[in-house]
Amino acid sequence: MAKEKKSALKEKQGASKSEITNIASINDIKSKRKSQPNTKALVSSILNRDITALSRAITLIESKNVKHLEKANTIIKQCLPHANTSIRVGITGVPGVGKSTFIEALGKHLTTRGKRVAVLAIDPSSTLTKGSILGDKTRMEDLVKDKNAFIRPSASGDSLGGVARKTRETIILCEAAGFDVIIIETVGVGQSETTVHSMVDFFLLLKLAGAGDELQGIKRGIIEMADAITINKADGDNLKRAKLAKVEFNRALLLYPEKSSNWQPKVTICSALHNKGIEDIWSMILNYIEITTKNEFFIAKRNEQNKFWLIQTVEEQLKSDFFNRKKIKTALAEQLQLIENNKTTPFAAADYLLKL
Ligand code: GDP
Repeated sequence: MAKEKKSALKEKQGASKSEITNIASINDIKSKRKSQPNTKALVSSILNRDITALSRAITLIESKNVKHLEKANTIIKQCLPHANTSIRVGITGVPGVGKSTFIEALGKHLTTRGKRVAVLAIDPSSTLTKGSILGDKTRMEDLVKDKNAFIRPSASGDSLGGVARKTRETIILCEAAGFDVIIIETVGVGQSETTVHSMVDFFLLLKLAGAGDELQGIKRGIIEMADAITINKADGDNLKRAKLAKVEFNRALLLYPEKSSNWQPKVTICSALHNKGIEDIWSMILNYIEITTKNEFFIAKRNEQNKFWLIQTVEEQLKSDFFNRKKIKTALAEQLQLIENNKTTPFAAADYLLKL
């Protein structure tokens, strides 16, 4: 702080010398906090596997500030040549099935073998409540402390599409930061499973052994998406039931048509809590990668996913541009009122709005 400024401040506030020094250092800290390193420095730190830089860049992706988003786009572009290097695994299952226990066990299995693991989440509830399934830091306690692991809670956003886009971009940054495996967790709510499926190489459904009728209550679509079904909590009294469930799932899966990947979905059992079956699951995933790399399904699927995301992003952007137009906001309110008063039909109202 300049000398004159300090004395002016002293006069004004009657502050002591030490107080002034403190004010100066607080201002220093504040300005350091505010000043974001330039994008070039961030990219080079990300490529040097600097986690703080990675987190900062993800925060830019998640920001609503237009300037931040511009920066984020530049960073993503520069990271892109270094991306596409990881194995992307999606994990889904109802709350309580053991997703975080499983991810912790799989994550530790990998990090102890020298792999670097990033865990991201897509949490549809966070778009409403601003909460997140990974927000609670007590989950994955060991993995959180592991220097080879990076855990990032679900971004919150106004729509699942928005959150998904941010996660897709975060995957690119994590890959540029040298993560070998990226795990994306989701709960089976609404479209979230389809969303995660559209951004991963391998999709794993976690289940519990039920009361016999295993397929009851499972959405058909999810079985079709799953590359494997793992029955968790196969321990203690539950082991026998888990084994029976495995037989039943296997039988049920035979009824589904063969996948274009030539991969026959597998059913496995595990106990995430007791670290049993985790190694086999990882071997299975590697086997899948090997088979689909050889028959070129792996690369074809990633290409399809990229095309899908192009269309998805355009749709999202058009939608948000449309609804954010001032004219539309006013006209929409009027049309909604007219609908309430039975003075127009939804189709006529839509037609009117779209022509504005
Ligand atoms: P999530 O909601 O799907 O993430 O489930 P959690 O990982 O939080 O697990 C829910 C509860 O199930 C916790 O009390 C876990 O300790 C327990 N749990 C998870 N995996 C196993 C397992 O393999 N065996 C047993 N017996 N309990 C488990």
